[in-house]
Amino acid sequence: MTKLDDNHLQSLIDAAIQATKNAYIPYSHYPVGAALQASDGQIFTGCNIENASYPASICAERTALVKAVSEGVRSFSNLVVATRDGGSPCGICRQMLSEFGVNVRVLLVTLEGNIIHDTTLAVLLPLNFTSDSLDMSTNDGTR
Ligand SMILES: [Zn+2]
Repeated sequence: MTKLDDNHLQSLIDAAIQATKNAYIPYSHYPVGAALQASDGQIFTGCNIENASYPASICAERTALVKAVSEGVRSFSNLVVATRDGGSPCGICRQMLSEFGVNVRVLLVTLEGNIIHDTTLAVLLPLNFTSDSLDMSTNDGTR
């Protein structure tokens, strides 16, 4: 486990850890915080939000992503996910994030800021399902 010297990424790590404080987790008691940095530098944070109807819950990573996309941001450079054990994004989050590109650096950190994994979305989700598979090459998602 290492700490990162880079002040820029350290602030992203701090943001992810801070985001865990808003986690709504009455069922799992497993707080997750995410800080997703757009290519233009903006940071979008998210926490996991559980629901009595379990499938209605949303992960921290997707919370951050939907906040960004709903604000018109679709290009990302870094993602930090903070959990007590450096847990990794679930498959649904990996897939949803990959919609906007797999060249995203992903840091998985503990709540103390220790880096457990320093990887990329491409490594976390090889052979991701893309719009190419849907033969919708003329549909870029815009109107
Ligand atoms: Zn997830």
